[in-house]
Amino acid sequence: MNLHEYQSKQLLSDYNIPTPNGYVISSLELVKKYIAEFENSAVIKAQVHTGGRGKAGGVKMVTSEIEAYNFAENLLGKNLVTHQTGSKGIKVNQILIEEASKIEREIYLSIIIDNTVSSPVIITSIEGGMDIEDVSKLMPEKIKTTICSPLLGISNYKIRQICKDLEIPENLKNEFSQIVLSLYKLFIKNDCTLIEINPLVITKDEKIIALDAKINIDDDAVFRHPSLKKLEDKSQMSPLEALTNKYDLSYVKLEKGKVGCMVNGAGLAMATMDLTKWAGAEPANFLDIGGSANEEKIIAAFKIIIEDKDVEIILVNLFAGIARADVVATGIVKASKETSSKIPLVVVMRGTNSEEGLSILNNSNLDIISASDLEHAAIILKEKISGGK
Ligand code: ADP
Ligand code: MG
Repeated sequence: MNLHEYQSKQLLSDYNIPTPNGYVISSLELVKKYIAEFENSAVIKAQVHTGGRGKAGGVKMVTSEIEAYNFAENLLGKNLVTHQTGSKGIKVNQILIEEASKIEREIYLSIIIDNTVSSPVIITSIEGGMDIEDVSKLMPEKIKTTICSPLLGISNYKIRQICKDLEIPENLKNEFSQIVLSLYKLFIKNDCTLIEINPLVITKDEKIIALDAKINIDDDAVFRHPSLKKLEDKSQMSPLEALTNKYDLSYVKLEKGKVGCMVNGAGLAMATMDLTKWAGAEPANFLDIGGSANEEKIIAAFKIIIEDKDVEIILVNLFAGIARADVVATGIVKASKETSSKIPLVVVMRGTNSEEGLSILNNSNLDIISASDLEHAAIILKEKISGGK
C-alpha cells in the first residue's frame, strides 16, 4: 500500500525526522489562506502516487499569491503525467503547500527489503535529487548499499560509514545518525517495504530536512496497522489495480505472453506458468484467484485476463478445495458471455464438484476444451498456440 508524500511526512515527523511545515488542501479556495501563512513564498506539490513529479511540472516554487493560485488551478482535478505513470497520468486531488527550504545539498536515502540478501538494506547517494535515475545509470559507484541485520538492525560502524560516504559535516553527524536510526525504526515498526527520502537536504543554515518522502507498507501486514490502512487512497489506483484490490486477487502482467492463466493458489499458479513454458508458449500473467472464490470474483478475474490484448488463449487450472469447481465454471461461462469473449479456454479441473464444473463448461457452447490433466493441457496448448514448438 502506497502512502502520499504528506502522509509519509507525517509518519517521519512522528519519529522525529524533520520535515517542512506544510498544509494539504483539496480546494482552490484555501490556496490564498495557506500561501499567506508562508508570506506568499512556498513550494506547491501535487500529491499523487508517482515519482518524477518535479520533472513533470507537479512541483513548483511560487513567490506570489497569484502564481500560487494559478499553479494550483492547473494541478487540482487534472491528471499529472510523469515518466512513471502511463500516458493517461494520475489524478491530482490534493496539493501540498509547504515551506520552501534553502537547499545547500541534496542526498538520496532509502530503505528497502532486498530479497537477495533477505534483509533490509539502506541505499544512499551523495548525488540525490531529481536526477537520481541518471546517477544510478551513469555513475553507479555513487550509489552505496548497506545491508542491515534483520535481528540486530543497523550497527554504529555502518552508520559511520554512511556518514563518510555522504560527506556529512562533523557538526551534523549526530543528528544525521539519529535520522538514519529513526528511519530504520519506522521501517521495521510499520512493516514497510520501502521508505525513500529523495531529497534529504542539508540547508544553507545547516539543517537536515526530508523534502520528499515515499513510503510503501507491506500489503500482507497492513492489517496490523489500522491507522495506516485508513490512509489508503483508492482514487490513485488504476482501474485494473482497483479491481484486483477489491476482489483480493494477486495479478502480475508478464511481457510478451499469450497464454492467460487463471489458477487457485500461488504454488499452482507458478507450476502452471512452468507448464505453459514447457508447452513452448509464454504465460501472459500470474493470477492467483485465492482459496475461496465466488462467482463475482471469477468474473472479475476473467475480465482482468482478457483486458490484456496480448492474450490469445486462457489456461484455467483449478484444484478445487474450498473453491468449488461448479462455482468457478459458472463464473467463467457468465464472464465469457458478458464480455462476448471469443478467446478459447483450456481447462483442467479437479477436486470438489469437478464433474459438475466440467459439465457446466461442456454444455456452455463456448470455445472450451477440458483437459484430463496438466500434461494433456500442455499438449492442447502446443497445438493451439501459434508458433508453438
Ligand atoms: P519528485 O521526486 O516527485 O520529483 P520532490 O518532492 O522530490 O518530487 O521535488 C522535486 C524537487 O523539488 C526536489 O528535488 C527539490 O529540489 C525541490 N523541492 C521539493 N520540495 C521543496 C521544498 N519544500 N523546498 C525547496 N525545494 C523543494
Ligand atoms: Mg523526490
